[in-house]
Amino acid sequence: MNYEEIIKDIYTNVELIDNKGNLPSYIPELANVNYKNFGVYISTINHLNYGIGNYTDKFSIQSIAKVLSLSLAYSILGEDIWKRVDVEPSGNPFNSLVQLEADNGIPRNPFINAGAIVVSDILISNLENPKEDFLKFVRSISNDSKINYSTVISTSEKNVGFRNIALCNFIKSFGNIENKPSEVLDFYFNLCSLEMNCKQLSKLFLFLANDGCSLFGNKQILTQSQSKRINALMQTCGFYDESGEFAFKVGLPGKSGVGGGIVAVHPKQYTIVVWSPPLNAKGNSYKGMKFLEEFTTKTKLSIF
Ligand code: GLN
Repeated sequence: MNYEEIIKDIYTNVELIDNKGNLPSYIPELANVNYKNFGVYISTINHLNYGIGNYTDKFSIQSIAKVLSLSLAYSILGEDIWKRVDVEPSGNPFNSLVQLEADNGIPRNPFINAGAIVVSDILISNLENPKEDFLKFVRSISNDSKINYSTVISTSEKNVGFRNIALCNFIKSFGNIENKPSEVLDFYFNLCSLEMNCKQLSKLFLFLANDGCSLFGNKQILTQSQSKRINALMQTCGFYDESGEFAFKVGLPGKSGVGGGIVAVHPKQYTIVVWSPPLNAKGNSYKGMKFLEEFTTKTKLSIF
């Protein structure tokens, strides 16, 4: 498969289309990025790599980091983790509060904010130095010591994170948060502030295309079954109330973030990252969605 030619072709086409997305304004710092940035990077498990556009510029991965915190928590707790968070698509926006009341404080899945806040609580209870230990875990997956949090972004979000503060306190009232809400939220905002470029992100997620085993030093990050299940969750819940549409149009497990990044995983083949900051109404990158739809159409490769 000539990925390079296909990617170049689609990049040129998608770059030209009118961007109907908007930069998110609810996290002030995220509205300060250049909306024209557009980068793509693919890494295959056979070590073929290709990037185009702004693929070496760092961006805020935001909710994409929820896959990494879930991976660490799952590797520590095993199946017990599902007592605290469910595995069903929510059909609601990422920051919604409404279902929690009916579900007694058990979030529908680990990728909506409520679920990621519970996973943050689990990590705080199980790690000695939560922020440092989590960063070490992320860096160790792809042997990349340059990955870091952004204090500018985490502070920017913390100052206006009223919905997340409400979510955390609401879940605590049902007994599904063990630690102090301020500590849990501090961890959560840092988690979301992780920064890297398309190339680093694509390498980082390769373990999910490789049955849970990192290609950088041959470390088993997750068991094969856990890796399969994380991919299943990305497929059903990775794009909030647009997850069905992503499965329908792209047909790969994936995860988006409000920084405008999307990572998609083709198990046993590759990971591909697209970054374009303006978001559609569901909070997913407008051009990222278009690019990936074209990509699986042109390559005729999808898991379906
Ligand atoms: N930090 C963001 C929030 O909590 C993450 C949301 C996202 O990327 N969808 O609102």
